[in-house]
Formats: sequence, structure tokens, C-alpha cells
Amino acid sequence: MSQASCDAFNQALCEFLARAVTPFHAVQAMSSLLQAAGFERLQEAHNWPLVAGGKYYLTRNDSSLVAFVMGSDAGPEQGMRMVGAHTDSPCLMVKPQPEKVRQGYYQLGVEVYGGVLLNPWFDRDLSLAGRVSYADAAGAMQSALVNFQRAVAFIPSLAIHLDREVNQHRSVNPQTDILPILTQLPGDDKPDFRALLAEQLRAEHDGIDVARVLDYELSFYDTQVAAPVGLAGEFIASARLDNLLSCFTGLQALLAADGRQSSLLVCNDHEEVGSLSTAGAQGPLLRSVLRRMVGGDETRYAGLTDGSMMISADNAHGIHPNFADKHDDNHGPKLNAGPVIKINANQRYATNSETAGLYRLLAAAEEVPVQAFVVRTDMACGSTIGPITAGGTGIRTLDIGVPTFGMHSIRELAGSRDAWDLSRVLRRFYNHVGPLFTG
Ligand SMILES: [Zn+2]
Repeated sequence: MSQASCDAFNQALCEFLARAVTPFHAVQAMSSLLQAAGFERLQEAHNWPLVAGGKYYLTRNDSSLVAFVMGSDAGPEQGMRMVGAHTDSPCLMVKPQPEKVRQGYYQLGVEVYGGVLLNPWFDRDLSLAGRVSYADAAGAMQSALVNFQRAVAFIPSLAIHLDREVNQHRSVNPQTDILPILTQLPGDDKPDFRALLAEQLRAEHDGIDVARVLDYELSFYDTQVAAPVGLAGEFIASARLDNLLSCFTGLQALLAADGRQSSLLVCNDHEEVGSLSTAGAQGPLLRSVLRRMVGGDETRYAGLTDGSMMISADNAHGIHPNFADKHDDNHGPKLNAGPVIKINANQRYATNSETAGLYRLLAAAEEVPVQAFVVRTDMACGSTIGPITAGGTGIRTLDIGVPTFGMHSIRELAGSRDAWDLSRVLRRFYNHVGPLFTG
């Protein structure tokens, strides 16, 4: 495959990352790409007149998405080729009554969403985005997305002169140390965050009828956009690579697939907080879609689950040159050396020898290198939507991901080759003819 194709892929990935600043915006961006590619939007509460060769997608909570193709040559009970990822990333979210005025500065109280690496949030030019629910003039509740886009907030570090021990003993108290500053207030002005949101809604949505803002799910994000880094551009630096990189990679594979096999992409919200929600991987969304594909027929459903495979794509930890002893020395994935099969005997990853074996065959056919990760035996292992989806559906699952540095930082680093390589293997998986497993 040409360097030009890889560069175009990475450029589109960076554009997607810039748009997808929250799970809501990620789903909005994916929906518009699917719509442009001829996928038809379904509503969960409607009848679905699915036909062979049809391409469909649906969303739940505006923050999770399922896209699928009813294969023109092979139906769902002959085995779905499935890829899963998650739309959410650790971040700081605005509290329900967030206004604080201290020393004349208007700050917002924040909750920590997921396992945030807090230190990198200091000294960044932050913006704010998410979903706002409001009452219209008739008193009905409506929701709309907002994205301030410009840098509207900052969490300054404390100067080293005021904490000489900082490089030896830095710790961050999330209640007191990380309140972003929005502005300075003259005199005794009382800030009203909901009024600010109402103004923002009107600025972003022409003719919107906002009587008052009721509630919201808003998070801060770094305004520095994704960009190539390294002497030869070997790396991509961005926020939310975990796991929007995998959402985009799976989506591109699905869009590039030939549509002859039945295939699916699921991108769930709430993975970083355990997946138990209406839209999360522990919720009923995926099972409901799969059942409806076979018209609720139990025998056909058993055929589907037995013959299908899920590739759960979520980033892996590359071995860090400054901290190499954090990896088992035989299982230290390197950036730009290929996607990483993630294995854990205790089922924190869902990979088994069959799913890993099939992936290795697909990767070899695509001439993409394969790496393997298992956590050090004396360390605890992370997890993904892989085991949750496998447990919920009974479908054989593989955990894979591109190696990255700084997972859960506000700026993570990936190789510029690996996402493109993974996307090609996923496309080959979507196009795979015949039974995925024998016996
Ligand atoms: Zn993740």
C-alpha cells in the first residue's frame, strides 16, 4: 500500500479527532460519514425492513452508534464480522451547580470522568463541549450539542517558587486543584453558567428556541488539534486517541469493505467508567440489534452467535523507553511495528487462540506485522469492551489495539503507520468469505 494512502488516512483521522471532542460529537461525525456513504439511519422504536445488501446505522443516547451491512452474499446467521470500540475518553466534566468565584476569578467545579491522568491538564488552552437539554417556549424539553471551539478556560500550575518540592512530591487533589478558570468578574457579579449555555446554544443553532437551560453533560477538551510529530512524522499526537483512533479505524474499514459479508461496527459510550449504562457495552444495545437482524428467531440467532467474531479494538501500551521495566521484556510492543493482540489468562481481555489465530492469518495476508501484549505477571491488567461483549453475546472475541504512549493523558502518542495497518486488516476481516471458524 502506498505512503500516499497512509498519509490521506492519517489526515482524515486528525480531522475526525478535531471534530469528535466528546462522545456526542464523535457519534455526530461518524453519522455524517455513514450518511454520506449511503447508510440509512434507523430508529430503534420503528420497524426495520432490512434487506440483503442494505446498509444501516442507529445511535443511542446520541453517544453510542451501531452501523451494519446485511451482506449481499451471506446473511447474519452465516457469521457477522464485527468490530467494536468506544467513543468516550477520560476527561473533566462540569458539575451540575458549577459556579465558583474565588479571588475574583469565575471557575467551574469539575468531576473527574474515568481514569484521568491529571497532571497534563495543567497549562492547556481548554475549550468546552457536550450536550445541553433545555426547555423551549412551549415548555417541551429539547437537546442540542454545543462546542465553544475557542479556548475559554485554563488550569494554571502553581509556580515552582511556591512549591519547591513539586518535582519530588507532586500530587493533585481533584476537588481543590483543578478547577478551570473561565474569566474574571468585576465587583459582586454573580455568574450564571446556565445563562451562558443558553447564549451559546443561540450562537451555534440558528433560530433555536431556548427558554431556559435545564441540564447538561459537558466536558473540557484541549484546543490543540491532532498533529504529526517526530523528525520524519513517525508519530501522531492527539487527545482521545483512546479510543477514537479505533472508532475511526473501524469505520474506515467498514466503509471500504465490499459489503458481500454481513458486517457490523459498534462504538459504545461509557467504557472508561465500566460500560454499565443504556448506551454502554453492558447495556442491551448490541444484542438488541443482532436479534432484530434475524427477526428474533432463536435458531437463526444461535447460528449468528456461533458463527460470528468480534474484534474489540482499543489501544495498547507501547513499551516506553524511559520506563521499559513496566513491561514483560518479551511483550513490549513498539510504535509503528503493528497492531497488538492483547491477551490475559484471567479474561481481562477476551482473546483466545482461535480469534488470535484468525487475526494472524488475516494480518499475514495483508502483510501487516503483529505484536502481542500480556501484562507483567506482578501487575494488574486493564480491560476493554471485549470481555463484556463476549460475555453478553457469547460471540468469540479478539482484543487488539495499536500501541500508544501516555494512555489517558490529555495528549497521547501513536505511530503514524499502525492505525492504517489495523484498518486494512479489519477491512480484510469484513471481506472474509466463508465460515470464520470450522467445527
Ligand atoms: Zn480505551
